[in-house]
Amino acid sequence: MSYVSVPLRRLVTQRAGDKCEYCQFPQADSFFSFEIEHIIAEKHDGITEAENLALYCPCCNRFKGSDIASIDPETGKLAPFFNPRLQQWLDHFQLERGTIIPLSAEGRVTAKILQFNLLERILEREQINSIVQDSPPH
Ligand SMILES: [Zn+2]
Repeated sequence: MSYVSVPLRRLVTQRAGDKCEYCQFPQADSFFSFEIEHIIAEKHDGITEAENLALYCPCCNRFKGSDIASIDPETGKLAPFFNPRLQQWLDHFQLERGTIIPLSAEGRVTAKILQFNLLERILEREQINSIVQDSPPH
């Protein structure tokens, strides 16, 4: 991956509110450091600029890899992943206790491939009980 400068890393982390931009897990509650990665991978000609970078927890980053889309299990059609630069999380997902419920085709393929609802991830979310509701006031 192309080098991401310190100021750019800081910008991406702050903009994300120090949470994974896909599953919304807070970095402060994670044992692991979060990662800054491309939304559209470099192999798909994604650029290394703020508008194509996001903060990922290690789980989301590992499962997403360089993928950008998948087959929506509901329609059988190709759907792009949720894009945190272009879309609002709450338009595509809903948190119910520890489970992330997808609300759209983009939400369904993202939740499936990034494996949002593995049991241990649900349990971790239930424990922290601070996702989404703790968003800073605007
Ligand atoms: Zn995540």
